[in-house]
Amino acid sequence: MPIELTYPDGSTHSYEDGTTGFDVASSIGSRLAKAALAVKVDGHLFDLHRPLSGGGELEVVTDSSEDGRHILRHSSAHVLAQAVLGLFTDATFAIGPAITDGFYYDFSLSRPFTPEDLEAIEKRMAEIIAQDQPFERVEMTQEEALVVFADHPFKTEIIEAVDPSEMDAESLANGLGEVSAYKNHEFVDLCRGPHVPSTGRLKAVKLLRSAGAYWRGDENKAQLQRIYGTAWESKKELDAYIERLEEAEKRDHRRLGPELDLFSFPRELGTGLVVWHAEGGMVRKLMEDHSRRLHEAYGFDHVFSPHLAKEDLWETSGHLDYYADGMYPAMEMDGHQNYRVKPMSCPFHVLIYRSNNRSYRELPIRLAELAAVYRNERSGVVHGLLRARGFTQDDSHTFCRRDQIAEELAMHLDFVLTWLRDFGFEDFEADLSTRPDKFVGEVDLWGEAESTLEAALVAAEIPYEVAEGEGAFYGPKIDVHVRDAIGRRWQMSTIQVDFALPEKFDIDYVTAGDGRERPVMIHSAKAGSIERFFGVLVEHYAGAFPMWLAPVQATVVPVADRHDEYAQELATELRAAGLRVATDLADATVGEKIRKALLHKRPAVLVVGDDDVENRTVGLRLRGEDTDERGVTVADVRGRLTEAARLPR
Ligand SMILES: [Zn+2]
Ligand SMILES: [Zn+2]
Repeated sequence: MPIELTYPDGSTHSYEDGTTGFDVASSIGSRLAKAALAVKVDGHLFDLHRPLSGGGELEVVTDSSEDGRHILRHSSAHVLAQAVLGLFTDATFAIGPAITDGFYYDFSLSRPFTPEDLEAIEKRMAEIIAQDQPFERVEMTQEEALVVFADHPFKTEIIEAVDPSEMDAESLANGLGEVSAYKNHEFVDLCRGPHVPSTGRLKAVKLLRSAGAYWRGDENKAQLQRIYGTAWESKKELDAYIERLEEAEKRDHRRLGPELDLFSFPRELGTGLVVWHAEGGMVRKLMEDHSRRLHEAYGFDHVFSPHLAKEDLWETSGHLDYYADGMYPAMEMDGHQNYRVKPMSCPFHVLIYRSNNRSYRELPIRLAELAAVYRNERSGVVHGLLRARGFTQDDSHTFCRRDQIAEELAMHLDFVLTWLRDFGFEDFEADLSTRPDKFVGEVDLWGEAESTLEAALVAAEIPYEVAEGEGAFYGPKIDVHVRDAIGRRWQMSTIQVDFALPEKFDIDYVTAGDGRERPVMIHSAKAGSIERFFGVLVEHYAGAFPMWLAPVQATVVPVADRHDEYAQELATELRAAGLRVATDLADATVGEKIRKALLHKRPAVLVVGDDDVENRTVGLRLRGEDTDERGVTVADVRGRLTEAARLPR
């Protein structure tokens, strides 16, 4: 039977049975055939030289596309494993997927890899690539695969987990095995594919580092050694990526935090628990002040709730059913009552709502809290402030009538964008997650909420993607992502509609007709976690916070001891104008003091010497500028600094 393929331009073309992606690409053009790494038919990827199993919409995958890069990275992981097994006779291999911007492979061997090992492995990989070994697909039964991989316990475990009944009848009829593997030279690995046609297509591969990992990510299972690498379609792209990595490394908040004396994670506290030092604490206070100010401006009331509650509450809310793994274990009180530390604030706010008989006239009721919450994140995923075990949510819960949903959601999105813009983010993207197969609430209500969320995104001119069916069972949501100064995407804010929790807590309001109706809830976090948001800000600004957020806005540096008194007078005067000013009276040279202030990313350094004392002036150096302005009057400095330090609103 001929195969019908639809090209991206919509035209349909007929090919003989047994045609490969390469044949198709060649029939379109020799340049395309040369650039092709694989083909996609109706969303399924095929190796370039593998006969297509049927027709559909055709896409030729070239190396600079997302799919193409994925294939390059995945194929590089094979070559990595091939090199390691060749060089280390006691090594066995586990899994090696492509990941964002690269790939890794996990190995078990008697000792950790050293940097010298990585060099040797990279050299061996280069040889394999130079040999241009073809990747060959092999189909086998479970039994055959168990023989081939008999010496490799992790592979054996994967093969044993394959359920032959999951194979579709068509594949079995075509003589395809239950297990597919890929072979290049003597090396064979379990894999679904696809791969580059041959190793020579890997033009720019680099190993980055090694680290410990656990089999299946489970700390109770075998300890493995993971090697990370990256692969790109060209040396140029690889170099650009390495440069981005170095830039990210310089901005890493885990490095800048201690360097700028912002925060630390003392071992004594335990994994993922942070203490904020004085300067980090000041930035945090400013963020929280801004959060409270904006919440008030948008019509929210501030409420407060405790850090823990009886287990029954979490049973009613459903957290113990679907979120227990994310919660700290129970602590027993009063001999029999279990308590849990809170992972979220939602149930508390519902109880505040329920504490009074509510009328339709009072709605919407908007409750906000900067609440410390605790989550039992696995130690392997804890990552500085970005993923901690204790953090503070700028959480809010709105209770509204059905006829208010549209307006409320538009307001929430406006709030979120205002918040993000105030912190210097300009570039937004959103995901809209819609109704999954299993859901609570009425279909109509879902549809209404989804179209309202979408309309709000359109009105705000935010590019968005619809994640069809990806919503939580209790309601649709919007996640807002930002791009930081070096182009990385971070998920920040969430607006989540909830039809379930009002039901669980049986809350209602009195309608105009004296009936009872259930309100709809909207959960929203603008920063998400204050800790995480701060971590992202540190990286976005590389520690050089904008003036309004800078913990110290200006440092006064006297040239010599005899200028100390004037320096202190000046600082006092500027502080009286509301500025955060430090004086550096240490026994060091002016040059050293200026360097220190710049290292700490102070927005302004005010140097004072003899002339300044005499004329009531200062030497002003602003961050990012190489030269000083001499003889600026105190009034001028005060005016300029207070102007620059103005709050975003
Ligand atoms: Zn593979
Ligand atoms: Zn909530």
